[in-house]
Amino acid sequence: APNTPSNFIRQIIDKDLASGKHNQVITRFPPEPNGYLHVGHAKSICLNFGIAQSYQGICNLRFDDTNPEKENPEYIESIRNDVEWLGFQWSDDVKFSSSYFDALYGYAIELIENGKAYVCDLTPEEARAHRGNLTEPGKDSPYRNRSVAENLDLFERMRKGEFEEGKMVLRAKIDMASPNMNMRDPIIYRIRFAEHHQTGDKWCIYPMYDFTHPISDALEDITHSLCTLEFEDHRPFYDWLLDNISLECHPQQIEFARLQLNYTVTSKRKLKQLVDEGHVSAWDDPRMPTISGMRRRGYTPAAIRNFCDSIGVAKANSTVDVAMLEAAIRDDLNENSPRAMCVLNPLKITITNYPEGQVETLSAPIHPQKEMGNRELPFTREILIDKEDFREEANKKFKRLVLGKEVRLRNAYVIQANEVIKDESGEIVEILCTYDPETLGKNPADGRKVKGVIHWVSESESLPAEVRVYDRLFLDENPDGNKEKSFLELINPDAFSKITTARVEPGVAKFEAEQGFQFEREGYFCIDRYDSKPEQLVFNKTIGLRDTWAN
Ligand code: ATP
Ligand code: MG
Ligand code: MG
Repeated sequence: APNTPSNFIRQIIDKDLASGKHNQVITRFPPEPNGYLHVGHAKSICLNFGIAQSYQGICNLRFDDTNPEKENPEYIESIRNDVEWLGFQWSDDVKFSSSYFDALYGYAIELIENGKAYVCDLTPEEARAHRGNLTEPGKDSPYRNRSVAENLDLFERMRKGEFEEGKMVLRAKIDMASPNMNMRDPIIYRIRFAEHHQTGDKWCIYPMYDFTHPISDALEDITHSLCTLEFEDHRPFYDWLLDNISLECHPQQIEFARLQLNYTVTSKRKLKQLVDEGHVSAWDDPRMPTISGMRRRGYTPAAIRNFCDSIGVAKANSTVDVAMLEAAIRDDLNENSPRAMCVLNPLKITITNYPEGQVETLSAPIHPQKEMGNRELPFTREILIDKEDFREEANKKFKRLVLGKEVRLRNAYVIQANEVIKDESGEIVEILCTYDPETLGKNPADGRKVKGVIHWVSESESLPAEVRVYDRLFLDENPDGNKEKSFLELINPDAFSKITTARVEPGVAKFEAEQGFQFEREGYFCIDRYDSKPEQLVFNKTIGLRDTWAN
């Protein structure tokens, strides 16, 4: 993309293309289908697909599916949808690490044949004791020097299901004294009698992530394998493995900083806990930092992409202010979304000098600056304004309707409040006003100034609606790293509330679910994709007009 600033990864790629090391760039986005994607994944998607796009290369979507117990087809489906919704397309079909299980098995045998892998019978506790720690070297497993023939036989019998889970594993034979713990004879295969969503019960041994990932990358001719910083310590094994098997391709692993947002958790495990324990309604609850949650709330793909580009790619972890993401959403919606009017807490106005029963069709711009055409707005004798927009008495700062004074109805006439009607309890239930028929689209002819502008809807022509209002899901800036409390204790109990009294201008019903628009003076909203019905509209508030968290 022409707007994407350069970064250290692009500089490496530029160099590799200039030197002729590669003449095409191939990247991949490799999620494990064990949950829904979150905003952190969006960064990785924008990076991998964005690089492929701008270098006219290829980006694969590969499901890294080596833990069958934690994965399922619902997650696969959601990930495909999320990547497409963000605006990216993978090359040919989606890939699965599991479709390389035969090849992976073959490379494991190759390692065994070359004396570089062995079957180990240590129990998990024994293996831990042998591993040593950062200050002490590990000890060799007593099974380390099994013959090639014995290893081949045992590995084959592991595959056939002759041993129980945990009884033995296949390990790479590297160096138990390595300062890098990942090089101390890491496990590359373990026994799991688990049905796999892609391969069924074909396998009862499954390759480990660290073994699967480099080989899958190489089988797909990936040129640059981009991953997050916590994999830096895994790079020596990535390179060792590809140096020790006959596969020729050897992608370059490059690490970048994870996206961490304040007031947010970005860990699939924790997000799953929020769903499983009912703290939110689903993975795509509009409060969730998942891609599908942001989508349902009305965040736009373009805004998320802009945000990911704007934060750049770094080599050191740091936390990004969630207000930056919110600002990106606000900017995009302000620039591109249609305008409409909605009254959240209606107060009835009767315009006593307006003809009874008349419905006048006014015209209003869809967008105040952009050429997006006009919309029709029905005007009637009885209209509704927001309770907050009227006071019996107020000083000059209150630029709304005050008893005895005038205000402009947005896109319509100037009205004056003449009389307040209250119920027995003293609550204001109606205001009698008069309108100035000469003020449609123009100032009063006599030169008097009317400062305030308020929004409104026709009482009879508006539609009832439920409006769902969201706030940040966590009250704490760092819910993941709070020393005293778990992230669950830091949930904002008021992050979700409902307004059931809202009335909206009728044209709003034609918007598609999730299409963003501005309710003038209230914020940005969209129709809920599941719960909204033509006879009972349901809107999600995407974001307010201003940052209410800023001080
Ligand atoms: P989680 O920690 O939430 O479970 P993960 O890293 O285990 O995430 P994967 O499905 O393995 O999730 O991730 C797919 C890709 O997305 C990986 O390349 C991973 O590095 C990247 N990724 C995950 N989280 C982030 C993040 N917060 N920022 C940037 N990239 C991320
Ligand atoms: Mg993971
Ligand atoms: Mg090789």
